Amino acid sequence: MISLVDLTAQYHSIKMEIDAAVLSTLESGHFILGPQVAKFEESVASYLGVGHAIGLASGTDALVIALRALNIGADDEVIIPAYTFFATAGTVISVGAKPVMVDIDPQTYQIDVNYIESAISSKTKAIIPVHLYGHPAEMKPILEIARKHGVKVIEDNAQGYGAEYFGKKTGSLGDIGCLSFFPTKNLGAYGDGGMVVTSDAALAERMRMLRTHGWKKKYYSEEVGYNSRLDALQAAILQAKLPYLDLWNKKRRDLANRYNEHFVPLGIVTPIKREWAKHVYHLYIIRVEKRDALQAFLKERGIASEVYYPLPPHLSIPCRQFGYKEGDFPHAEKAAKETLALPLYPELTIEQQDEVIAAVKEFVS
Ligand SMILES: *Cc1c(COP(=O)(O)O)cnc(C)c1O
Repeated sequence: MISLVDLTAQYHSIKMEIDAAVLSTLESGHFILGPQVAKFEESVASYLGVGHAIGLASGTDALVIALRALNIGADDEVIIPAYTFFATAGTVISVGAKPVMVDIDPQTYQIDVNYIESAISSKTKAIIPVHLYGHPAEMKPILEIARKHGVKVIEDNAQGYGAEYFGKKTGSLGDIGCLSFFPTKNLGAYGDGGMVVTSDAALAERMRMLRTHGWKKKYYSEEVGYNSRLDALQAAILQAKLPYLDLWNKKRRDLANRYNEHFVPLGIVTPIKREWAKHVYHLYIIRVEKRDALQAFLKERGIASEVYYPLPPHLSIPCRQFGYKEGDFPHAEKAAKETLALPLYPELTIEQQDEVIAAVKEFVS
């Protein structure tokens, strides 16, 4: 049996450090915020090259708090890619705004920058590029369009931790970057976790208030906020894992390249990497017409695979109120029918990968 990700394999590879981090946090008596969280926030800020990092309870909360900090709400519009995890759309709706979708570039699966400008209206307040699958979105044109129209950029960097755009870390390029530490993400906690990063001190202060009931001073709420904090235990675990991130991402890249070498000759559409991109392969995505048959074939051989995502957000029930319909975003809809994620994680062995490759070859021939 080959799974899509193996979280225990990673735990066992650094068990001593993780166990020590957990135990010392238990001994410290600090569980909500405190020194562990502050230390991890500093580590992330320096890794990404940003001024401020604020630990939160999840990546979804990071998007909500980023939107709230930019005063986005009722009657506002936010531009997002038509192909992403539902949270990108759901958080926009949850603050009362309308997600305005833009179709994706079918090669990179990122928001197609050629269609962004025509989606901008007088109500547009922000653009949320998503660095989907670990490949950076095309940030330079996005930032230029945003500046020209006076709208903000929130990067959904849940899948791009460690990725680079022209040598700069994704998450550090827009006004606010949002991270997720969901266990299967490239830097994953052992539970939920998230973070917002920014180099704008005023935005940082506002987001810090929003994570604890709108407090600047304890118990004196200045606005309605949330209870959304990164656990000290998770911060300690993530701090222990962070030094390995670049190595793990390199292993992902090496495995992805090895898949590519075998799949390209078979005529399978493999992931595209633009020359300016450092790809961190959060997911390894191939495109095949008989996708569902391939998935069933792999399952029979004990190989897991997954569709990210079977339903583009515009066709979801919560988006019906905006009048979207089938056919609105053909590239997103086609990707939902043809893409498949194959097992890829840093601890995947060559033998396991060979098994996956052999099974795919057998299916194609
Ligand atoms: C995982 C993910 C999120 C949400 O993060 P959680 O920590 O699970 O709340 C948001 N956007 C994208 C693109 C994601 O992959």
